Amino acid sequence: MLLNEKKDPMGLAIKTYFETGKVLKLKVLSTLFDDDEIPVPYLFRTSMEMSKLERLALSLSSGHILDVGAGAGCHAMALQEQGADVTAIDISPLSVETMRRRGILKADWADFFTADFNGPFDTILLLMNGIGIVGKLDNLPAFFKRLDSVLAPGGCVLTDSSDLRYVFEDEDGNFDASEFEGYYGEVDYQMSYGKVKGDRFDWLYLDADTFCEAAQKAGYRVEILQRGEHYDYLAKITKLS
Ligand code: SAH
Repeated sequence: MLLNEKKDPMGLAIKTYFETGKVLKLKVLSTLFDDDEIPVPYLFRTSMEMSKLERLALSLSSGHILDVGAGAGCHAMALQEQGADVTAIDISPLSVETMRRRGILKADWADFFTADFNGPFDTILLLMNGIGIVGKLDNLPAFFKRLDSVLAPGGCVLTDSSDLRYVFEDEDGNFDASEFEGYYGEVDYQMSYGKVKGDRFDWLYLDADTFCEAAQKAGYRVEILQRGEHYDYLAKITKLS
Protein backbone atom coordinates (compact mmCIF):
# COMPACT_ATOMS: atom_id res chain seq x y z
CA MET A 1 0.00 0.00 0.00
CA LEU A 2 1.30 3.46 -0.84
CA LEU A 3 2.07 5.78 2.08
CA ASN A 4 0.33 9.07 2.66
CA GLU A 5 2.66 12.10 2.71
CA LYS A 6 1.42 12.99 6.20
CA LYS A 7 2.40 9.57 7.54
CA ASP A 8 5.79 9.21 5.90
CA PRO A 9 8.40 9.79 8.63
CA MET A 10 11.29 8.14 6.80
CA GLY A 11 10.52 10.05 3.61
CA LEU A 12 10.38 13.30 5.55
CA ALA A 13 13.74 12.56 7.18
CA ILE A 14 15.24 11.78 3.74
CA LYS A 15 13.78 14.93 2.18
CA THR A 16 14.89 17.13 5.10
CA TYR A 17 18.43 15.76 5.06
CA PHE A 18 18.64 16.26 1.30
CA GLU A 19 17.40 19.87 1.55
CA THR A 20 19.24 21.05 4.64
CA GLY A 21 21.97 18.55 5.51
CA LYS A 22 20.46 18.41 9.00
CA VAL A 23 18.01 16.03 10.57
CA LEU A 24 16.13 15.17 13.71
CA LYS A 25 16.15 11.60 14.96
CA LEU A 26 14.36 9.00 12.82
CA LYS A 27 13.01 6.80 15.58
CA VAL A 28 12.11 3.15 15.17
CA LEU A 29 9.87 1.37 17.67
CA SER A 30 9.13 -2.34 17.70
CA THR A 31 7.75 -4.90 20.12
CA LEU A 32 10.81 -7.15 19.75
CA PHE A 33 13.69 -4.67 19.97
CA ASP A 34 14.53 -1.73 22.20
CA ASP A 35 13.74 1.70 20.77
CA ASP A 36 16.24 2.50 18.06
CA GLU A 37 17.02 5.08 15.39
CA ILE A 38 18.11 4.99 11.77
CA PRO A 39 21.05 7.30 11.06
CA VAL A 40 19.60 9.23 8.12
CA PRO A 41 22.96 10.02 6.40
CA TYR A 42 23.44 6.23 6.16
CA LEU A 43 20.52 6.12 3.70
CA PHE A 44 22.61 8.33 1.38
CA ARG A 45 25.69 6.05 1.48
CA THR A 46 27.94 5.91 -1.57
CA SER A 47 29.20 2.63 -3.01
CA MET A 48 32.50 3.18 -1.15
CA GLU A 49 30.53 3.29 2.12
CA MET A 50 28.44 0.21 1.40
CA SER A 51 28.94 -3.20 2.97
CA LYS A 52 30.64 -6.06 1.16
CA LEU A 53 27.28 -7.74 0.60
CA GLU A 54 25.79 -4.61 -0.96
CA ARG A 55 28.78 -4.10 -3.23
CA LEU A 56 28.52 -7.71 -4.34
CA ALA A 57 24.82 -7.20 -5.14
CA LEU A 58 25.60 -4.13 -7.23
CA SER A 59 28.37 -5.92 -9.12
CA LEU A 60 25.96 -8.73 -10.04
CA SER A 61 23.21 -6.38 -11.28
CA SER A 62 22.71 -6.23 -15.01
CA GLY A 63 20.19 -5.56 -17.75
CA HIS A 64 16.89 -3.93 -16.90
CA ILE A 65 17.19 -3.38 -13.10
CA LEU A 66 14.48 -2.68 -10.51
CA ASP A 67 15.51 -1.28 -7.10
CA VAL A 68 12.59 -2.08 -4.77
CA GLY A 69 12.17 0.01 -1.61
CA ALA A 70 14.91 2.28 -2.84
CA GLY A 71 14.60 4.86 -0.02
CA ALA A 72 16.96 7.76 -0.75
CA GLY A 73 18.11 5.81 -3.80
CA CYS A 74 21.69 4.98 -2.83
CA HIS A 75 21.85 1.74 -4.83
CA ALA A 76 19.93 3.14 -7.80
CA MET A 77 22.26 6.15 -7.83
CA ALA A 78 25.42 4.03 -7.76
CA LEU A 79 24.11 1.90 -10.63
CA GLN A 80 22.91 4.86 -12.68
CA GLU A 81 26.35 6.47 -12.33
CA GLN A 82 27.85 3.33 -13.86
CA GLY A 83 25.51 3.72 -16.82
CA ALA A 84 23.07 0.97 -15.80
CA ASP A 85 19.38 1.00 -16.74
CA VAL A 86 17.73 1.19 -13.31
CA THR A 87 14.20 1.97 -12.11
CA ALA A 88 13.77 2.81 -8.41
CA ILE A 89 10.44 2.35 -6.66
CA ASP A 90 9.22 3.15 -3.17
CA ILE A 91 5.87 3.46 -1.41
CA SER A 92 7.13 6.64 0.29
CA PRO A 93 6.08 9.72 -1.70
CA LEU A 94 8.69 11.97 -0.08
CA SER A 95 11.50 9.50 -0.79
CA VAL A 96 10.47 9.28 -4.44
CA GLU A 97 10.30 13.08 -4.69
CA THR A 98 13.81 13.27 -3.22
CA MET A 99 15.20 10.57 -5.53
CA ARG A 100 13.91 12.53 -8.53
CA ARG A 101 15.44 15.75 -7.21
CA ARG A 102 18.75 13.93 -6.67
CA GLY A 103 18.74 13.10 -10.36
CA ILE A 104 17.52 9.50 -10.43
CA LEU A 105 16.00 9.36 -13.89
CA LYS A 106 13.43 6.62 -13.28
CA ALA A 107 11.92 6.86 -9.79
CA ASP A 108 8.32 5.73 -9.36
CA TRP A 109 5.95 5.99 -6.43
CA ALA A 110 4.85 2.36 -6.46
CA ASP A 111 4.16 -0.69 -4.32
CA PHE A 112 6.06 -3.77 -5.50
CA PHE A 113 3.07 -6.03 -4.90
CA THR A 114 0.51 -4.06 -6.90
CA ALA A 115 2.32 -1.77 -9.35
CA ASP A 116 1.80 -1.98 -13.06
CA PHE A 117 5.45 -2.14 -14.13
CA ASN A 118 7.25 -1.41 -17.29
CA GLY A 119 8.99 -4.77 -16.82
CA PRO A 120 9.97 -7.51 -16.79
CA PHE A 121 13.32 -6.98 -15.05
CA ASP A 122 16.59 -8.92 -15.34
CA THR A 123 17.70 -7.94 -11.82
CA ILE A 124 15.49 -7.03 -8.89
CA LEU A 125 17.25 -5.54 -5.87
CA LEU A 126 15.77 -5.68 -2.39
CA LEU A 127 18.47 -4.38 -0.06
CA MET A 128 18.84 -3.38 3.61
CA ASN A 129 16.95 -6.38 4.95
CA GLY A 130 14.96 -5.86 1.79
CA ILE A 131 13.03 -9.15 1.85
CA GLY A 132 11.38 -7.55 4.89
CA ILE A 133 8.71 -6.00 2.65
CA VAL A 134 7.10 -9.43 2.52
CA GLY A 135 5.93 -8.68 6.08
CA LYS A 136 4.85 -12.15 7.26
CA LEU A 137 6.03 -15.65 6.44
CA ASP A 138 2.57 -16.46 5.08
CA ASN A 139 3.03 -13.79 2.40
CA LEU A 140 6.10 -15.48 0.88
CA PRO A 141 4.09 -17.53 -1.67
CA ALA A 142 2.47 -14.29 -2.91
CA PHE A 143 5.94 -12.74 -3.22
CA PHE A 144 7.17 -15.62 -5.42
CA LYS A 145 3.95 -15.48 -7.44
CA ARG A 146 4.63 -11.81 -8.06
CA LEU A 147 8.10 -12.69 -9.36
CA ASP A 148 6.48 -14.87 -12.02
CA SER A 149 5.29 -11.73 -13.79
CA VAL A 150 7.98 -9.19 -12.83
CA LEU A 151 11.16 -11.23 -13.35
CA ALA A 152 12.44 -11.71 -16.90
CA PRO A 153 13.37 -15.26 -18.02
CA GLY A 154 16.85 -15.99 -16.65
CA GLY A 155 16.62 -13.01 -14.28
CA CYS A 156 17.34 -12.92 -10.55
CA VAL A 157 16.46 -11.19 -7.31
CA LEU A 158 19.32 -10.10 -5.06
CA THR A 159 18.23 -9.56 -1.49
CA ASP A 160 19.63 -9.52 2.01
CA SER A 161 18.19 -10.58 5.32
CA SER A 162 19.28 -11.62 8.81
CA ASP A 163 18.53 -14.65 10.91
CA LEU A 164 17.11 -13.24 14.15
CA ARG A 165 18.03 -16.39 16.08
CA TYR A 166 20.66 -14.37 17.99
CA VAL A 167 17.80 -12.49 19.69
CA PHE A 168 16.55 -15.79 21.11
CA GLU A 169 19.86 -17.40 22.01
CA ASP A 170 21.07 -17.59 25.58
CA GLU A 171 24.71 -17.13 26.59
CA ASP A 172 25.48 -20.75 25.74
CA GLY A 173 24.07 -20.40 22.24
CA ASN A 174 20.88 -22.38 22.97
CA PHE A 175 18.04 -21.22 20.78
CA ASP A 176 14.53 -20.90 22.21
CA ALA A 177 11.85 -18.86 20.46
CA SER A 178 8.95 -20.84 21.93
CA GLU A 179 7.62 -17.75 23.73
CA PHE A 180 7.27 -16.08 20.35
CA GLU A 181 3.94 -16.48 18.59
CA GLY A 182 4.34 -17.43 14.91
CA TYR A 183 7.69 -17.37 13.11
CA TYR A 184 10.44 -15.71 15.14
CA GLY A 185 11.56 -13.42 12.29
CA GLU A 186 8.21 -11.60 12.10
CA VAL A 187 8.73 -8.12 13.51
CA ASP A 188 6.49 -5.08 13.64
CA TYR A 189 7.84 -1.57 13.36
CA GLN A 190 6.62 1.96 13.70
CA MET A 191 8.70 4.99 12.78
CA SER A 192 8.48 8.60 13.81
CA TYR A 193 10.23 11.78 12.83
CA GLY A 194 9.52 14.93 14.84
CA LYS A 195 5.73 15.14 15.09
CA VAL A 196 5.14 12.79 12.16
CA LYS A 197 4.27 9.25 13.11
CA GLY A 198 3.85 6.47 10.57
CA ASP A 199 1.44 3.56 10.80
CA ARG A 200 2.82 0.34 12.23
CA PHE A 201 3.93 -2.24 9.65
CA ASP A 202 5.15 -5.84 9.53
CA TRP A 203 8.72 -6.63 8.53
CA LEU A 204 10.09 -10.12 7.93
CA TYR A 205 13.59 -11.38 8.76
CA LEU A 206 14.25 -14.80 7.25
CA ASP A 207 16.70 -17.50 8.16
CA ALA A 208 18.32 -19.09 5.11
CA ASP A 209 16.74 -22.56 5.56
CA THR A 210 13.18 -21.25 5.80
CA PHE A 211 13.83 -19.02 2.79
CA CYS A 212 15.23 -21.88 0.67
CA GLU A 213 12.35 -24.19 1.56
CA ALA A 214 9.64 -21.66 0.71
CA ALA A 215 11.38 -20.85 -2.57
CA GLN A 216 11.57 -24.51 -3.57
CA LYS A 217 7.83 -24.94 -2.99
CA ALA A 218 7.13 -21.95 -5.21
CA GLY A 219 9.39 -23.11 -8.04
CA TYR A 220 12.38 -20.91 -7.19
CA ARG A 221 15.94 -21.48 -5.97
CA VAL A 222 17.59 -19.44 -3.23
CA GLU A 223 21.40 -19.45 -3.16
CA ILE A 224 23.24 -17.86 -0.27
CA LEU A 225 25.96 -15.90 -2.07
CA GLN A 226 27.77 -14.56 0.96
CA ARG A 227 27.31 -14.26 4.71
CA GLY A 228 27.96 -11.05 6.60
CA GLU A 229 29.43 -10.54 10.03
CA HIS A 230 26.28 -10.75 12.11
CA TYR A 231 23.83 -13.48 11.01
CA ASP A 232 23.17 -11.52 7.80
CA TYR A 233 23.52 -12.80 4.25
CA LEU A 234 23.01 -11.93 0.61
CA ALA A 235 20.75 -14.28 -1.33
CA LYS A 236 20.09 -14.76 -5.02
CA ILE A 237 16.68 -15.98 -6.15
CA THR A 238 16.25 -17.58 -9.56
CA LYS A 239 13.43 -19.54 -11.15
CA LEU A 240 13.89 -23.32 -11.18
CA SER A 241 13.97 -24.54 -14.74
N1 SAH B 1 16.96 0.22 0.02
C1 SAH B 1 17.17 1.45 0.76
C2 SAH B 1 16.09 1.76 1.78
C3 SAH B 1 15.66 0.62 2.65
S1 SAH B 1 14.37 1.04 3.79
C4 SAH B 1 18.54 1.40 1.41
O1 SAH B 1 19.17 0.34 1.40
O2 SAH B 1 19.02 2.42 1.91
C5 SAH B 1 13.01 0.12 3.09
C6 SAH B 1 12.23 0.92 2.07
O3 SAH B 1 11.25 0.07 1.50
C7 SAH B 1 11.48 2.12 2.64
O4 SAH B 1 11.85 3.28 1.93
C8 SAH B 1 10.00 1.76 2.42
O5 SAH B 1 9.21 2.89 2.14
C9 SAH B 1 10.09 0.82 1.21
N2 SAH B 1 8.98 -0.15 1.01
C10 SAH B 1 8.33 -0.86 1.97
N3 SAH B 1 7.40 -1.67 1.42
C11 SAH B 1 7.47 -1.48 0.06
C12 SAH B 1 6.74 -2.04 -1.04
N4 SAH B 1 5.76 -2.94 -0.88
N5 SAH B 1 7.06 -1.61 -2.30
C13 SAH B 1 8.05 -0.69 -2.48
N6 SAH B 1 8.75 -0.13 -1.47
C14 SAH B 1 8.47 -0.52 -0.20
